[in-house]
Amino acid sequence: MKYVLDTSAILSGKNIPLDDDLYVPPGVLSEISEGGRWHRKLEMMRAAGLKELNPPGNVMTRVKDQASRTGDDVRLSDTDLEVVALAIYVEGTILTDDYSIQNLAKSMDVEYKGVAQEEIEEEWEWEYRCAKCHRWYKELKDECPRCGGEVRSARLVR
Ligand SMILES: [Zn+2]
Repeated sequence: MKYVLDTSAILSGKNIPLDDDLYVPPGVLSEISEGGRWHRKLEMMRAAGLKELNPPGNVMTRVKDQASRTGDDVRLSDTDLEVVALAIYVEGTILTDDYSIQNLAKSMDVEYKGVAQEEIEEEWEWEYRCAKCHRWYKELKDECPRCGGEVRSARLVR
């Protein structure tokens, strides 16, 4: 089995299948500070054969396009997108507790597993809220049509 780990998986350090092939994009490693308490876990995974790999650019483009379609792009970092792209590239399963990564993975038929929490059963939708007048919107807008305030992603709807 091949697994691609995101930062949440490394930080949780639980349920990591060390006997399987483990991959991370370089961005995940840079999110974990050198010498910190998480670093030892990382060293352990490296000793177990954790591989650092960049996903190809064309796969990244596909993942970015899909993330903007599902609306997950506002909550996902480039590193998160690399995790999904790398899983597509190596045909592996993502280990993550990040709901937005799980949601994006599901929409692209990429396998994923939660490490600490239960994985989500269905796709999540988000709603957006004006930071100024607190009106809710179904879609993300550049600015609030009512008051011009900043609209931010907010709650999950099932
Ligand atoms: Zn407003």
